[in-house]
Amino acid sequence: MKYHILTLFPEMIEQGMHTSILGRAINNGYISLETTNIRDFSANKFNRVDDYPYGGGAGMLMQAQPVYDAWKAVAKPAEGKKPVRVLFMSPQGKTFSQEMAKELAQEEELIFLCGHYEGIDERVIEEIVTDPVSIGDYVLTGGELPAMVMIDAISRMVPGVLKNE
Ligand code: SAM
Repeated sequence: MKYHILTLFPEMIEQGMHTSILGRAINNGYISLETTNIRDFSANKFNRVDDYPYGGGAGMLMQAQPVYDAWKAVAKPAEGKKPVRVLFMSPQGKTFSQEMAKELAQEEELIFLCGHYEGIDERVIEEIVTDPVSIGDYVLTGGELPAMVMIDAISRMVPGVLKNE
């Protein structure tokens, strides 16, 4: 299983995922993890990735362009393979469950999209997201913790990750 994580805070994911059982699973090649910093795809000379919501409203949104370009950089399905599913971490998504973890563990690759601020410009969500997923009925500051929760639960279902299946 290969995980790609699109985030503004790759260090949060990197620090959280390389210890204990998951760290061993990465070292032994059962799973792999690649973080992509969405800010690296900013077209703004000050590397800004947020903007005021079109039509007003409180807070800032992550712009569509850097998110789309970051996704394009990682979403390259191998020849003859179906497109890689994009899981958008969202309080409005379908609630994550053990059943969903088992189903997602059948995939060869998954892309996790982590929002921040007041979320992400809806236009890019409509364009690239296949599965909006919530980890519970509460609102967090960002999608990084939800992505780590999901990766942990999915990885347990990947053959070889646990010694005793
Ligand atoms: N106004 C936004 C909304 O209603 O979706 C809230 C955005 S929240 C402050 C910032 C980001 O945190 C979201 O884009 C999402 O990626 C993540 N997030 C927050 N709560 C979450 C949850 N329960 N499950 C999954 N992701 C969540």
